[in-house]
Amino acid sequence: MTKETGWNFDNSYARLPKMFFSSINPTPVKSPELIILNNPLAESLGVDPEWLKGEDRSAVFAGNEILEGAEPLAQAYAGHQFGHFTMLGDGRAVLLGEQITREGERFDIQLKGAGRTPYSRGGDGRAALGPMLREYIISEAMYALGIPTTRSLAVVTTGEPVLRETKLEGAILTRVAASHLRVGTFEYAVRWGGVEKLQILADYAIQRHYPEINDDENKYLSFLQEVIKRQAALIAKWQLVGFIHGVMNTDNMAISGETIDYGPCAFMDTYDPETVFSSIDHQGRYAYENQPLIGGWNLARFAETLLPLLHDDKEEAVKLAQEKVSGFNEIFQSHWLAGMRMKLGLFKKKEKDEELIHGLLSLMKKHRADYTNTFRTLTRDQLDATTDLFKSADFIQWEQRWKERLAQQEESKVASYELMRKSNPAFIPRNHRVEEALEAAVEQGDLSVTARLLDVLSSPYEYSVEKAEYTKVLETNIPYQTFCGT
Ligand code: AMP
Ligand code: MG
Repeated sequence: MTKETGWNFDNSYARLPKMFFSSINPTPVKSPELIILNNPLAESLGVDPEWLKGEDRSAVFAGNEILEGAEPLAQAYAGHQFGHFTMLGDGRAVLLGEQITREGERFDIQLKGAGRTPYSRGGDGRAALGPMLREYIISEAMYALGIPTTRSLAVVTTGEPVLRETKLEGAILTRVAASHLRVGTFEYAVRWGGVEKLQILADYAIQRHYPEINDDENKYLSFLQEVIKRQAALIAKWQLVGFIHGVMNTDNMAISGETIDYGPCAFMDTYDPETVFSSIDHQGRYAYENQPLIGGWNLARFAETLLPLLHDDKEEAVKLAQEKVSGFNEIFQSHWLAGMRMKLGLFKKKEKDEELIHGLLSLMKKHRADYTNTFRTLTRDQLDATTDLFKSADFIQWEQRWKERLAQQEESKVASYELMRKSNPAFIPRNHRVEEALEAAVEQGDLSVTARLLDVLSSPYEYSVEKAEYTKVLETNIPYQTFCGT
């Protein structure tokens, strides 16, 4: 089978102690229909192109048929949700196994919406078409933007309704991830498994994501450091493109450093650091400007789980952990500043850059400028005074300072503008475009709007006039809201 299909599973997670998962098959669905398939991703995973054209795919991506070599399971984990500790686990996701690519890379293949598991609590284990397509679109957009993320391989409709506030069409998303290990997996391990299980999990995570630190003197301290580094780099990338995750609970923070769990996420249009989209985030805990802070908070929870491995002496362990966690902000800042310099076409560090950057951001806030379009417009040499920001006297002053700074560089003007075009996307998944695509798919069964959107989002840095309409902002006074638990 593996030879014919290209599926090639090796299930290391299933070899962990039993407390980390429950073996369970997806619950078969009535009439699965494959509505979207990510062919390039499938081929990069080593899946055979002929198999991809075949008839059994919808049954496989619905969980009705189990591929040879797969060992389906639901993972156990805990997490701090909006600051409160809870036992969670895959309530509606089933890990089929780990696909080993031709290059020897390992990827989790998970069906999201695959039915009830021992961790479902009151939930039905299912998912609706709109939110699964939404995850597909936004995760693929993130990938194309160059941001570490889980990816989406397929969506099938199930032929079964799911009951939310209304009756919705059921669907299953196939998610591909470097792994599904989370901060919450460690919180679960130490709380219910003790030090022995914690160490097994840490060794496993190191082997899987950070093998280069295996021989370090204090490899668990290095592990903490590396996770902090990856999260700092990741969250800086979010901030640079205006991505708001929306539900940065510790169970949604991946040890691999990938963006995971696309629930109420959305991209910011008008620049406002306080932007929140999630309908349940009343206090703005996960607002745009808070993301770095929350990143640090989550990493502190992660560090706490590792304490017994960091040092035999508890006080010493706390000291070591605190040192690392308090370094998060500086690492984040340096990534963010480096990224902002690139967005402004600056090659080397200069003392007053931070002032220049914050100067622009505060003008953007004052004049309610669109975040993405402002930066992208700067990549054009001639700014046509089309927005309130560009027309304003304070911006014209800022622009002069910026142009002077650009002129002082050794690198050519051409090189600067090229750097800017590579660092400022023209196309992001605009909220109204995403909604329009989902509506056509859900209401009319028309996937063509989604396909066109995905095509535009697949090369976000390559502007062309035919795609100009995708840069447009929706003029509305109604705040955009997103929903989770969908
Ligand atoms: P999330 O907010 O998506 O990170 O999910 C939080 C927890 O709720 C996870 O343990 C999910 O598996 C679980 N969950 C979400 N939706 C459902 C559902 N429909 N049925 C069962 N569990 C669910
Ligand atoms: Mg989650």
